[in-house]
Amino acid sequence: MTIVPQPCARCGELIPAERIEAVPETMVCVQCSQEIGGEFKVFVTPERTSKDGSLKKNYGGYSTRKVRKPLKPKGQA
Ligand SMILES: [Zn+2]
Repeated sequence: MTIVPQPCARCGELIPAERIEAVPETMVCVQCSQEIGGEFKVFVTPERTSKDGSLKKNYGGYSTRKVRKPLKPKGQA
C-alpha cells in the first residue's frame, strides 16, 4: 500500500507519509496537532455488562471514542 502525503487541513503543509501511516485518520501535521493540543478528544466509557441494579460487580472493558476537534485554519483564533 502506498501512502500519499496529504496537505494539512490547518496550515496546508504536506503531512509526512510516516505520520499518516501511524495515524491514518489524521488531517493535520504534527506541528498543528501540537499547537491545537491534539487533534482528537478521546472519551473513555466503562462498558456495562451487568443489568442496572445488579449488585454483581463486573469488570468490563472500556470503550474509547475519538472525536475530532473542530479545525480552524491557522491564524484564525
Ligand atoms: Zn499543519
